[in-house]
Amino acid sequence: MPAVTALTAPSAHAPLTRGTVYRRDPGPHDVQIEIRWAGICHSDIHTVRGDWGPVPYPLTVGHEIAGVVSAIGDQVTAYAVGDRVGVGCMVGSCRECENCRNGFEQHCRNGMLDTYNGKLPDGAVTQGGYSRSIVVDENYVLRIPENLPFEKTAPLLCAGITTYSPLRQWDAGPGKRVAIVGMGGLGHMGVKLAHAMGAEVTVLSQTLSKKEDGLRLGADHYHATGDPQTFAALRDAFDIILNTVSVPIDHNEYLRLLRFDGVMVSVGVPPEPASLDSMTLFDNRRIYTGSKIGGIAATQEMLDFCGEHGIVPEVEIIGADEVTRAWENVLASKVRYRYVIDISTLS
Ligand SMILES: [Zn+2]
Ligand SMILES: [Zn+2]
Repeated sequence: MPAVTALTAPSAHAPLTRGTVYRRDPGPHDVQIEIRWAGICHSDIHTVRGDWGPVPYPLTVGHEIAGVVSAIGDQVTAYAVGDRVGVGCMVGSCRECENCRNGFEQHCRNGMLDTYNGKLPDGAVTQGGYSRSIVVDENYVLRIPENLPFEKTAPLLCAGITTYSPLRQWDAGPGKRVAIVGMGGLGHMGVKLAHAMGAEVTVLSQTLSKKEDGLRLGADHYHATGDPQTFAALRDAFDIILNTVSVPIDHNEYLRLLRFDGVMVSVGVPPEPASLDSMTLFDNRRIYTGSKIGGIAATQEMLDFCGEHGIVPEVEIIGADEVTRAWENVLASKVRYRYVIDISTLS
């Protein structure tokens, strides 16, 4: 088993250190990828800190992976050495259940295999993208369009698909009014994607501090949710509200901004359960739902859409030694809008 240099978390709160992860030799259907770029997702930090349950340390996180194919198994036909590819939040699923067969591998009835902190049948734990290379089943490898600036593409594999999938599902497009709640790593992608789909886009953010960015990235309107006037002024205004924040919000206040048959989709996970007043759903026959990343086919569709429209996230490239500082900035909401680790600095 090849040993690979990685940034590993030794415990919940210690700084990441250089360590080693072990990758399998490529099997017949495996793709070995030399990782070039790894995005930093808030989930990486939640996982390491133990916010979502106990973690076996040391753990290497990272599920926004962009790299180049360095070897393929003898049955692989879709990829060749040298191809630009990506890996997102999952590296496996049963492929047999109803959801897998319908292209919703992220909802596999037998559980999707997470790119990191996923349990393999032999009890081993999957290790993520803050590392020099990874070996992945070809069915969970994505093709990254050649025309996109490679160093900015990694966050599409989580932040991109997480916002693209619900916007597509609920038909964001011409004539639709879409509100994006939050202007962070997810929210700014939601703005770009909904704008490219042809929708009229409004950002709802706590303050107006990122208004210029929001308008530049494609929003038509920008409102501060800290201003009580906002909720009165925008009543019944939207067809789709995409909630990208994971801090607690008053869902009823937001639901009242939906017009008839409008839908509010949450992609963030707040620490506490939300309280919903059924009356806000009766009125206007409103819908409240959630969305979890996207299936493999949808993820490829998203990447191709981004290629056609020239969409990439706003990123700051950092070296391997800057990740600890970057995590602090992510926790303090100081990142604009996604950090990407240059994996060539990890040696
Ligand atoms: Zn993520
Ligand atoms: Zn399945």
